[in-house]
Amino acid sequence: MFRPISEQNALANLEALRSDFRSMITDVYEHRAKACAVCETPGACCLDEHFVNVHVSRLEAAAIGKAIADLPAQTKKAVRERTAKVIEKYKLDEAIDTSTATYACPLFEKGTGCLVHDTAKPLPCIMHACYSSEADLPPDELLDEAELAVNKLNEQTYRRPTGQLPIPLAIAKLI
Ligand code: SF4
Ligand code: SF4
Repeated sequence: MFRPISEQNALANLEALRSDFRSMITDVYEHRAKACAVCETPGACCLDEHFVNVHVSRLEAAAIGKAIADLPAQTKKAVRERTAKVIEKYKLDEAIDTSTATYACPLFEKGTGCLVHDTAKPLPCIMHACYSSEADLPPDELLDEAELAVNKLNEQTYRRPTGQLPIPLAIAKLI
C-alpha cells in the first residue's frame, strides 16, 4: 500500500524524477549520439508516423496539460488542431488497444521543436537520440526503472491503476 500524496506534490516529484533521468541520460550516454543541433531533419523523430508510439500515464498527462495551459493562445490553438487531426488520421480513438498505435506527435512545433521539452517531456522522449551504434544506446532497464517510479507516483496520487494513453488522446482529454 502506497502513502497517498496530492497531485501537486506528485507533479513536483515527477519533475525531480524527470530531471534526474535527463541528467543521467545526458551525462552518461547522449554525448555518443548525433547532436540534434546539427540534425538535417529536425523533428523527424517526433513526426515519424511509423515510429512514434509514446504513451503517457495520467500524472504525466497532467504535467503536459499544465505545460500546454502556459503556452501562448495561438500555440495552444495549433496544438488543439493538430491533436484533433492526428486522432482522426490515425484513428486513435477507435483502437481497442493502442499499445502498438503510432502517430506524428502534435506537440512538435515547426521552428520551436518539442513544446514540452523543458516542462513535461515524457521519459521515452528524453531517452531517445540518434545513436550510430546500438552498443551506445542507454539500456532499456533505465527506462523501465524510471517508469516504475512514475507508476508508483500515479498510484500514490490517484489510488487506482490509471493506464496509459498515446499523447494525442491524453491531450484530447485535457483540452
Ligand atoms: S533525435 Fe535524431 S532525428 Fe530527432 S532531432 Fe535529434 S538528431 Fe534529428
Ligand atoms: S513529446 Fe516532444 S519529444 Fe516526445 S514525440 Fe512529442 S514532440 Fe517529440
